[in-house]
This record gives sequence, structure tokens and C-alpha cells, in this order.
Amino acid sequence: MLPYLTEKFGNPSSRQHAFGQEAQAAVEEARAQLARLIGAEPGDIVFTSGATESDNLAVRGAARAAAARGRHLVTTALEHPAVLEPARTIEREGFEVTVVGVGPDGIVATDEVARALRPDTVLVSVMAANNEVGTVQPIAEIGRLCGERGILFHTDAVQAVGRMPVRVDEWGTDLVSISAHKMYGPKGVGALYVRRSRRPRVRLQPQAEGGGQEKGLRSGTLNVPGIVGLGEAARLATEALAGGEPARIAALRDRLLAGLRRRLDGVEVNGSMEHRLPGNLHLSIARAEAETLILSLGGRIAISSGAACAEAGGKGSHVLRALGLSDERIYTALRFGLGRFNDAAEIDAAVEALAPAVEAARQRAAAAPR
Ligand SMILES: *Cc1c(COP(=O)(O)O)cnc(C)c1O
Repeated sequence: MLPYLTEKFGNPSSRQHAFGQEAQAAVEEARAQLARLIGAEPGDIVFTSGATESDNLAVRGAARAAAARGRHLVTTALEHPAVLEPARTIEREGFEVTVVGVGPDGIVATDEVARALRPDTVLVSVMAANNEVGTVQPIAEIGRLCGERGILFHTDAVQAVGRMPVRVDEWGTDLVSISAHKMYGPKGVGALYVRRSRRPRVRLQPQAEGGGQEKGLRSGTLNVPGIVGLGEAARLATEALAGGEPARIAALRDRLLAGLRRRLDGVEVNGSMEHRLPGNLHLSIARAEAETLILSLGGRIAISSGAACAEAGGKGSHVLRALGLSDERIYTALRFGLGRFNDAAEIDAAVEALAPAVEAARQRAAAAPR
């Protein structure tokens, strides 16, 4: 990214001179790198400011463009607010929205989605993997269902891209949201895959209108350093996936769970363990309130009691509620995220730090007056 922040200032839309052409070439290389990671045609990638924008463009843009054909949208209780909020917005514009629920395994059942479809359904939006409990959804199955009925299918694949194989072509997806900073890239840049290379082309109403960049789907001068960073992150992720990184991370995750269970009773995993991102562990530890526990660790372990966006909003987790977890399970819930830079020594150190902190939290809770 550095040359594009310090020396190469061309605007990729200025194609008459070498500076612009150089920037354009860098953007096109990044587009190809990202396309390769997800099994897409480069021309189907639209760069955005991040997945929040991608989700908004997909949900609002696809719904509004299809409004003449039908006004029904199907989504799920697990979705990120960047999908749920635009769904609420189009509801106020006269759409009906069906929100499919999940069971305690945190998996959306394909037949529940099938039951929710109506003749006027124009869009289905189901995330590929959840950002809190890490559960992986049957996207290819839902894609097939939507394809058979000619209904557009959007997936928020932010958590899946770079962490597990993503093949937008085989999944039957029409719209796929991606964020750079969830795959070791820079913040404030992302992409939306929009299937336009195969007919019928996906039609979207653009949210940002103006200079016509990104085939008119997302006007605005491109964030060249950010896009270059996203491309490089995609290249590295392609390598990591081929090199067996998911299995290495899953083994660390399993070591963490085994270590905690060896030292503590009352450790319950939330959501399916089988259909889960390799780097996600979401647990409730009985009688140890999560906020207190995290505070008592003094920032030594970077874990959270929920999603960063739920924390910012100050509301409890709608995802944990959707799983039907008890209040006790919810306020003792911890999310661990493991990644490329973790090793076994860190996992063991985390277990060593957590076990006594849990015991101390339990003793304090037991001693506290009711
Ligand atoms: C982080 C996240 C987003 C938002 O992405 P930004 O690039 O931060 O706007 C959307 N969906 C999911 C599932 C996420 O985890």
C-alpha cells in the first residue's frame, strides 16, 4: 500500500495519463486477486468502503431495483445490523420482510427458508458465517433453492472470506459482501460481488450516484491504497487457504476448548461445533459473568463478550437471543477469535490466565449478598 500513500497519487479514473493508468493497473490487479480468492470474474467485483456499504447496496439496491416484480424479502435472525437495518428501511418503503429464525445450533435450515419464500419474493439474504457464534450456513443449498425459483440471493460472506473456501460460482450467489479488515487487510475498504458476467444480470439501484465509477454501481473516486491492500490481503489469504491454515487454526481452537474443559467445569459451547469457522470459539462459562471476568483479566487476553458493533450500540446480542439461550448463558458468554498470528504457547497461556480468573469470579459471585 505504501507507494500509493506516498508516491503514486494517480486517480484510476484519469486514464489519459501515465499516473492514472498506473493507479488503474493497481486497482485492476487487486480486483483480479480478490476475484481469484472467491472464484469470481474480476468484472463482477465492485469496490466499496467496507461491508456495511456492501450490505446496504446489496439489500436496498437489489430490493429497490426489483420492486416492480415483487416486494418481499427473506433474511435471518442471525444477520449483521448492516443487513437487518436496510431490511427495516425497505420495509418502511412497502416491502414485507420475513426473518427466518434459528435453533440453538445457530444454523439456518434450508427448508425454513423454502417455507418463507412467496411468489413475490425478490431477494433472500443469508450470511455465510456468523460474526459472533461463528456458525457456517448451508449457503450452496440455499443458493440452489433461490436459483430454482429465480430469486436473487445475497450472502454477507465477511466472516467466511479468507477463513474457509468461498466459491461464489458454486454457491449460486448473486451478491456477496466482503470486508478487507476481517481478512488482515486495511479498515474502510471492502467489496460487493455482483453477478453480471452471467445472464440474467443482477440489477441494482446504486446508493451513491455521481461520477459513474465501478460501472455506475458505486460512484466516487476509488480508495487506491485501500484497494491495493485488499488485493494483497486476498493474495495472502489464497496462499494461506491452500497451505492448510484453517486446519492449523482449528487445532489451536480445539486445544483452547480442551484446555478450558480440563481446568473448569460448566464450559458450554454456543452453537454448532461442527459447522463453525475454524478460528471461532464461543462459550458460556457457568457462574462467571463475562464482563467482570474480562475486566479482571486486565486486558491481557483480547477476548470479548459480544460483537464490537453490539458493544458500540449498547444493546445485548440479538444473535445469542436468536439461538434461544438463557439469560445466564448470555451473560456468561465469551467469544474467542483465533487467527494467523496465534500459536500454541499463547493458547496455553490464555488457559492458564483464564482458569484462576473464572474461579475468582465465581467465588466473588457466591460471596456477594443477594
Ligand atoms: C464486520 C462485519 C460487517 C461490517 O463490515 P465493515 O467493513 O466493518 O463495515 C458486516 N457483516 C459482518 C458479518 C461482519 O462481521
